[in-house]
Amino acid sequence: MNQFSSLQPIDLSALLPAYHEITLPSNGLFSQDIPQKLNIRGMTVKELKHLTASGKLDKTIFDSCLSGCIKESIDLSSLILEDYNYIVYMCRLYSSGPNVSAIHVCDNPSCRQQFKFSYNISDCVELELAENTISKTKIVNLPRFKEAGYNVNIEVKRLTRKDVITVEKNIKAATELAAKLDQPLNVFPLIELLKSYIVSISGFSSPVPKEALLDVLSSEDTELITSAFADEIFGVKGEAKPVCPICKTENTYIVPFTDVFFL
Ligand SMILES: [Zn+2]
Repeated sequence: MNQFSSLQPIDLSALLPAYHEITLPSNGLFSQDIPQKLNIRGMTVKELKHLTASGKLDKTIFDSCLSGCIKESIDLSSLILEDYNYIVYMCRLYSSGPNVSAIHVCDNPSCRQQFKFSYNISDCVELELAENTISKTKIVNLPRFKEAGYNVNIEVKRLTRKDVITVEKNIKAATELAAKLDQPLNVFPLIELLKSYIVSISGFSSPVPKEALLDVLSSEDTELITSAFADEIFGVKGEAKPVCPICKTENTYIVPFTDVFFL
């Protein structure tokens, strides 16, 4: 009998990276089901390697790894994007520090060079906590419809992580089908996202399905729908200012709060 065989395996979970308490941007004001504070930790090297093993991230795998870094039991897919994005950001910060590299195509139309650069996320990301009650839905009236004699109310909601995953799945399925049938793709990310925003449509003399409404929206109408909650400002945002190595133009790079941080 060797000296280790009679020993109980040691529970090493106490040696996982430390948890840090964070306050979610919604600040406990969105829903009773979403706590105001969570405890999150950085990913271990093993978890980070698991994410990047295939070089491409799957949103479901990413979310299950991210859940593992949160002490509280919480359904990430039910979170509104404002809260979800902040968790992604903080987990990235605790996992591998503030330096992130990214790829950008030069804003200068006569250059358009693709280049890689590094930036410090904690220097350029700002967090704003909600201070007042957060609306779950809003009613949008489209002036263009009114002018045309239709007094239509469109009820829109805040997007959740689940909506984003559904859109990605629909696009992926449609892309595969289009390739199989050798037909052009007729599903578009923005249209799919708009479908997620719209909860109900009222004011037409008989019911109008979402798809039919989406077919006649202008970009101005779309803007009114996607910015319905713009007066309730909270969440994380940030931009970096990389300089193009070729034409030396200062570019604007909008920080994406996605799994791209972890690639
Ligand atoms: Zn350039």
